[in-house]
Parts: sequence; structure tokens; C-alpha cells
Amino acid sequence: MPELSPENRIQVTVDRSLCIGSGDCVDTVPDVFQLDSEDKAVVVDPDGASVDDILTAAGNCPVSAIFVVGEEGDLYP
Ligand code: SF4
Repeated sequence: MPELSPENRIQVTVDRSLCIGSGDCVDTVPDVFQLDSEDKAVVVDPDGASVDDILTAAGNCPVSAIFVVGEEGDLYP
């Protein structure tokens, strides 16, 4: 079982090898994702937005680099 966040009870990860730094996820939920110095998205707070909005951001990632797991297993993809 992955370690889940206290509020949303999810684990959010970004595959850095896939991320192209488009910034879409940062635009959608800026309190959850930020771009680091290498222009790769990093998760700063998995409780920084609603689960629905985080799943929207994951679904809008152009290279499907965002993975979300919840208590019952995979939420995205
Ligand atoms: S939307 Fe996807 S490709 Fe764009 S910065 Fe976020 S994780 Fe990276």
C-alpha cells in the first residue's frame, strides 16, 4: 500500500522521464504541482486541491506522466 496523503487519501506521482514541462498541471492545480529547476513537474502537496481537480490535471497531461493512486487502487490512469 502506498503512503496516502492525510486529507485526500491519495498518492500523486510524476514520471520525470515522461514529463515535458508543458505546465498544464501547474496551471490547473498550482498548489499541487510546480515546475522544478529542470522544468519537470513535482508534487508539492497532494492535498492542495480536490481529488477531482487533480484527476482532471492528470487526464490533461499531454504525455500521461501523472499517476494517482487512492485507497482502492489506481484512480488515474
Ligand atoms: S502536464 Fe504533464 S508534461 Fe506538463 S508539466 Fe505536468 S506532468 Fe509535465
